[in-house]
Amino acid sequence: MNNINETTKNNVCLSCGICLGICPTQSIKFDKELKPIIDSSTCSSCRQCLEFCPGVQSNVTYGKTLEERTNGPVISSFVGRSGNREYLKNSVSGGIATELINGLLELGKYDFAIGVKNRKFNQNNKMQVYTLEDFDAELQKSVYTMPSFSDVIFYINNNPQKKGIIIASGCVISALKKYISSKKNLLQDNYLFIGLFCDCSLNKNIENYFYNYSGKHLKSNPVGFDFRTKDKQSYWPGNIAIKFTDFNVIIPREERYKLVKYFKNKRCLFCLDHMNVNSDISLGDNYTNLHSDKLGSNSIVVRTDKGKEALGLISDRVKLYPLEYSRIVDSQKVSNKYKNLYFSKIFYNKTKIDINKNIVCQDVSEYRKEYKLMLKNINSGKNYCRFPGLYELFFILKGDSNIKTRINTHKEIQKMGENNDSN
Ligand SMILES: Cc1cc2nc3c(=O)[nH]c(=O)nc-3n(C[C@H](O)[C@H](O)[C@H](O)COP(=O)(O)OP(=O)(O)OC[C@H]3O[C@@H](n4cnc5c(N)ncnc54)[C@H](O)[C@@H]3O)c2cc1C
Repeated sequence: MNNINETTKNNVCLSCGICLGICPTQSIKFDKELKPIIDSSTCSSCRQCLEFCPGVQSNVTYGKTLEERTNGPVISSFVGRSGNREYLKNSVSGGIATELINGLLELGKYDFAIGVKNRKFNQNNKMQVYTLEDFDAELQKSVYTMPSFSDVIFYINNNPQKKGIIIASGCVISALKKYISSKKNLLQDNYLFIGLFCDCSLNKNIENYFYNYSGKHLKSNPVGFDFRTKDKQSYWPGNIAIKFTDFNVIIPREERYKLVKYFKNKRCLFCLDHMNVNSDISLGDNYTNLHSDKLGSNSIVVRTDKGKEALGLISDRVKLYPLEYSRIVDSQKVSNKYKNLYFSKIFYNKTKIDINKNIVCQDVSEYRKEYKLMLKNINSGKNYCRFPGLYELFFILKGDSNIKTRINTHKEIQKMGENNDSN
């Protein structure tokens, strides 16, 4: 393997933009599909793009057994939420991510943070660097398509003395940590890594899907969507909101849950790092049913002394309840991920790309059928934009998209549009 062409060729690119950011000759760009293309006339064949690419390796070295690898190190664990009503209302879970970021920026512990705003259609996701003054509510909530981290890498390389808060899913945290520790002028200690639990990230076609879902019956087009909103009596864990210029229409979250298997990134089939084991502090939804209600709350795992200090510094702003880590792990159904090790070895047998390099596993044959089915679904999602109508019908016939929900959504959109016209 020489460069990240290998990643795209095997469809394990996550569109995280790390290769764009680190390429010393800036020879990499995204194409329309958000896949990297290399300008071979300037590429110096240094292989760095491949060395740090989370598409072809997990970069997690902690632990030797599958259980250690998936669970990671733990100092303490909690469920809890922000004490700030605005943060909580705008958050996807319990607002602890925003509370940590803004609290630590306010205290002057860090100079900048990163976050993603994009919930607009036809705009590429980008993680942006911001300071406390630039914060707004659009920087909250979860974007389930992978944002590009290229601007973040440019920024930290240009500002090595600045201290920052890096938030990301496990694959990106591990790759960024590896990159930072490889650079002589960057100090790992300058960064706090907030890890998001992650079941999988989705490809951009899901945005097109929801655009089409509502866009065909209207004079005005939808402008954006929230994967999860607590608005309009949606409450945690939140429904989907399609946004028009003057109104929002809510779609039940079940429409997203069932479609994930089509639109997830192939690389996520091989991931063992749901819990973000390389972060300083990792966060997810609180699915434990303890101290949980319709306003939403987080599961919180402190993994390093730096994470412990960070949470300690904002402890007067949040409500926390200690809870054994094993209960959080169980609530996230982490053991369901064990089979991803087998899938990754099937992938290795075909491609010689060993994503979970340091873990061996037994006979993979009983997982082949399931792996094939998963790939088939992923291919449907990948090809969705070529024949959207056909695939929509397929999803409906498979029972993965609800015809009644669609009809109700269209009616609601028409009604809202007419009300708007008459005002
Ligand atoms: C792809 C993905 C999959 C996830 N899967 C799970 C899961 O299976 N189980 C679970 O419990 N939790 C999962 N989460 C985490 C969960 O959705 C929340 O992000 C987390 O609980 C923090 O909530 P909060 O209310 O504290 O965050 P908020 O206060 O709402 O703030 C969210 C923060 O995350 C940042 N952000 C949003 N999207 C991204 C992104 N794609 N990459 C990097 N930063 C981002 C925002 O800029 C903001 O800083 C996932 C998140 C993502 C992005």
